Amino acid sequence: MQEINLEEVVSRVMARLLGGTDDGIPVEMSARHVHLSKKDALELFGSELTPVRELSQPGQYLCSERVRLIGPKGVMDNVAVLGPSRDESQVEISLTDARTLGIKVPIRQSGDIGGTPGIILSSATKIIGLERGVIVAGRHIHMSPEDAERLNVEDRQLVSVNMEGKRPAVFRDVLVRVHPDFRLALHIDADEANGCGCDGSTRCRILGPETEASCRLPS
Ligand SMILES: [Zn+2]
Repeated sequence: MQEINLEEVVSRVMARLLGGTDDGIPVEMSARHVHLSKKDALELFGSELTPVRELSQPGQYLCSERVRLIGPKGVMDNVAVLGPSRDESQVEISLTDARTLGIKVPIRQSGDIGGTPGIILSSATKIIGLERGVIVAGRHIHMSPEDAERLNVEDRQLVSVNMEGKRPAVFRDVLVRVHPDFRLALHIDADEANGCGCDGSTRCRILGPETEASCRLPS
């Protein structure tokens, strides 16, 4: 006979009924930033990247180095560089930034840079051209396998979330990303965060199938 941990089942059901442990998902805005390959970092700065601060996802950090983005219509200075180095450089900007720079940029998940446009990057002394790698990052939720089980979702699933900011909104097509190293957080860009009045304390909640259906317009 299969043994059931009654205490655990009861506490999980009670938590769900009372909403006691569910205080929503923290919302984090990703400002425009750059990931550099080792080769590109060396070319721009003459050395490897210098970590200054840990970011919310374990292993990710802000570097002291900054770059300038140069597009056909405009430039953006003082753009953050995040570490560690990647196999290929990637630039993550908002759709507003893309317009300012004068580049047509697709919405992609991080790492999916096939067929994306390039850009020119410069440091104080050097300039390099990327042939590809500029994206507007698709919104996504990082979570651990335990959070995924609690929230009843799976890795790579698309969900809708209710944004509980100053200007409430529903975001659809939010990608769930599950990994033991991930810390629970919704990642959106500056356009999305400002659009719904988010600040550091904003939370969101995943909508169940019924609520989600009622948010869609009849086809
Ligand atoms: Zn993220």
